[in-house]
Amino acid sequence: MNSLLDYSYDELECILTEMGEPKFRAKQIYEGLYQGKSISEISNISNDLKQKLLQKFCDYPLSIHTKLVGKDGTIKYVYKLSDGNLIEGVLLSYNYGNTLCVSTQVGCRMGCKFCASTLGGLIRNLTAGEILAQVLFVNRENKGDLKNRKVTNIVLMGSGEPLDNYDNVLKFLKLVSNDDGINISQRNISLSTCGLCDKIKQLADENLGITLTISLHAPNDDIRKSMMPIANRYSIKEILEAIKYYFNKTKRRIVFEYSLVSGVNDSLDSADELIKLLKGFACHVNLIPLNDVKERSLIGTNRKKAYAFMDRLISGGISATVRRTMGSDIEGACGQLRNKILRGDT
Ligand code: SAH
Repeated sequence: MNSLLDYSYDELECILTEMGEPKFRAKQIYEGLYQGKSISEISNISNDLKQKLLQKFCDYPLSIHTKLVGKDGTIKYVYKLSDGNLIEGVLLSYNYGNTLCVSTQVGCRMGCKFCASTLGGLIRNLTAGEILAQVLFVNRENKGDLKNRKVTNIVLMGSGEPLDNYDNVLKFLKLVSNDDGINISQRNISLSTCGLCDKIKQLADENLGITLTISLHAPNDDIRKSMMPIANRYSIKEILEAIKYYFNKTKRRIVFEYSLVSGVNDSLDSADELIKLLKGFACHVNLIPLNDVKERSLIGTNRKKAYAFMDRLISGGISATVRRTMGSDIEGACGQLRNKILRGDT
């Protein structure tokens, strides 16, 4: 069952007009929804209208299943969707604001060897409203409203491959950055992809201001193929071509994610190869020591070695940082907590 969050303001107006309601109802409902309220919580519409709406739409797309607060203030959420499926989110606090990591699919079909989200395959795509609800819900849960937002930044780095759910993700990006809603600037949104080249080019043509993040994780196709099945479909050369196209259209600097896996992609030779590959690109490399995943035998590089890799990149003229490990005491990485729950460990 769809929720009202799946619709734009104009679409909501049409829905209400078709139900014989005056247009201003759309404004009342829209405001309530963007404050994070469910249909039944919106106080300025009649019970009769609520009942009519609830026959066609679900009250709210998600509820909290589990919430864990880490020592560093990181909050991990597991939400339950209206069909019972579970997805994850993480709220990270920084000095410039709070970043919410959102999921775009239940599960994932990309099969990356180090990722917990893909272990059970793809279950289904999330609708635009289910992605938006994560933002509005967490904003409200942390006592934010539309003026004083508690979610200021968004990363599409939860479970799922955003570009494998293109239409819903695009609609979400438009809804969440709309002036009349929660109005999160597209400049504060990052979309992370394992590199679906055709979709990257399509996204470049949408004229959005978001940051594109590429999960590269390897300096050459052989290593990449050993970590990510998608590397059999698109070569690194094709990815670089696609992001050149993206950069030329948007003028937005590209970010590369590089998860460091001990003995696989973390040697200084790999760093040198990466320097050659990325030289001349307007880019930044985010190094993330792999979070060990119980179900996988891959082990993260230690921080000392990660910093040595970073220093090598910087001395080769590539902007790079090692990402702070946050929420590691609460299974902060992609898909870890959901799997623990599905395994029955919690
Ligand atoms: N499908 C998208 C977004 C989801 S994952 C993508 O591939 O980019 C978000 C980021 O976390 C990706 O860079 C992904 O490769 C990385 N990641 C997944 N599992 C990880 C782990 N166990 N440790 C470190 N990074 C991981």
